Amino acid sequence: MAEIPETLEDGILYVSRECHVALHHCACGCGEEVSTPLVPTEYSLTMTGDDASIWPSIGNHDFACRSHYVIDHGRIEWSGRMSRAAIEAGREKDRLLKRPPIKAAPAPRRRRFIGRVADWLVATFRRITGR
Ligand SMILES: [Zn+2]
Repeated sequence: MAEIPETLEDGILYVSRECHVALHHCACGCGEEVSTPLVPTEYSLTMTGDDASIWPSIGNHDFACRSHYVIDHGRIEWSGRMSRAAIEAGREKDRLLKRPPIKAAPAPRRRRFIGRVADWLVATFRRITGR
């Protein structure tokens, strides 16, 4: 069984096919560790060449950064940060219906995942500024 890396590096996606989990540092750079179970009811990982995609979106609502993004073909697609209030509102359908839809904030930056397959598949993502 593959060993879980003790420390995660920013910009690298660690995937264990045995454990059906992917780990990465939050794409915003806050350093929080994000664990995404790769099971049918949670997340699915696809690799296209070196590019990793994870679906659905990753919402780190329990982190201070509250980042929310999709890893799509090696790139971070920011989905906008949801405030606590917005999240709470989402749990109250009546209130939600009276609110305007939550719009995604402009993407502050993008990064790229580049991966190679190993016991622990390692996918790096880097900032691709200017795109
Ligand atoms: Zn973060």
